[in-house]
Amino acid sequence: MAHGYHFFMNPGPTNIPDRILRAMDRGTIDFNGAAFKAIADECFDGLKRVFKTDQTILGYAATGHGAWEAALVNLFSPGDTVLLVESGYFSLNWGMRAEAFGLQVETLANDWRRAIDPAKLESRLREDREHKIKAVLAVHNETSTGVVHPVAAMRRAIDAARHPALFLVDTISSLASFDFRMDEWGVDVVVAGSQKGLMLPTGMAFTGISAKALAAAAVARLPRVYWDWRRLLGQGTQQGYWNGTVPVHFFFGLREALRMLEEEGLDNVFARHHRLAEATRRAVRAWRQNDGPEVFAADPGAQSDTVTAVLLPEGHDGDKLREAALDRFNVSLGGGLGPLKGKLFRIGHLGDLNEPMVLGTIAAVEMALDLCAVPHGKGAVQAAMAYLTNGE
Ligand code: PLP
Repeated sequence: MAHGYHFFMNPGPTNIPDRILRAMDRGTIDFNGAAFKAIADECFDGLKRVFKTDQTILGYAATGHGAWEAALVNLFSPGDTVLLVESGYFSLNWGMRAEAFGLQVETLANDWRRAIDPAKLESRLREDREHKIKAVLAVHNETSTGVVHPVAAMRRAIDAARHPALFLVDTISSLASFDFRMDEWGVDVVVAGSQKGLMLPTGMAFTGISAKALAAAAVARLPRVYWDWRRLLGQGTQQGYWNGTVPVHFFFGLREALRMLEEEGLDNVFARHHRLAEATRRAVRAWRQNDGPEVFAADPGAQSDTVTAVLLPEGHDGDKLREAALDRFNVSLGGGLGPLKGKLFRIGHLGDLNEPMVLGTIAAVEMALDLCAVPHGKGAVQAAMAYLTNGE
């Protein structure tokens, strides 16, 4: 029998604030009516401020996987080559989907513990004199590793190589949690989902689309219906911007989420995420004593403000530790994905979160480390408290 709050500390989905739950707790309305149109307009305008774009945003009833697929089928023709920046489990998954649609996927190999070196991207693009590479696909925040990849610097690398490739970026675990700027950073397609920084239930996904990407979509030859941007933009349909029945409750929630983000101010949202992430990292550094666990992201400048992947010492099982944290303390943590299964666990620190939630989680993890006989240093909660109280 579990008592008190379930501490849901996975890196997505995230905690849904009561304000959003209450906003969704109402009867349905006609999605063709004026009242709904005003809500949808407010939502798409608000999303533009979060994506930092003046260009097009489209939404789907889907998880992030749908937005991944929408980007692929709208932009490419069978046999096109795309360059996938390897960052971890999610980047490879996106690439696998591109292959399934008959694209040639070239992988720019990269150590999962480090951010991609933009110079490597630039030199690969310079070699491609015939411009066979149609697009660069990258994940901003690789949720499986807790490493942030340098989107603005990748854009500069593409420009420095004078390469016309489209630039597609997955922001599923960074958007609305730390800085991302679609237009300023020259991103052609942004892939996003509802269930992380936007604090909504899982099931809505978005793509930000540049004018250059819309032009590419007009001549691309992969088949598409549900995801077809031309249809969604009202070309050939009566409805425009949505296929089928519109999930109005998601829009009730999204409107509230956007209002909450604007009331706090995006920069303050980012600062809160940074503070809670840094407290978590300091806790892990305390555990690192006695050859204990360590932050998986090896490069201090690329450690994520939304998720910390914690690598266990050799011979210890991250899934056993997660089991102990859940069974004994009602704290849910993320696990290792793909080749990292069992090797690490992940603490999500994004969305609707505050200091005591992070401190409670750190305490529960330290108890679970004891229960699982994982060697570690002590004092993680103290280290996090000292930082949260006094800053540096
Ligand atoms: N990309 C990243 C970076 C993710 O973190 C996830 C999910 O966690 C996905 C893609 C897939 O999104 P979804 O699970 O919403 O389909």
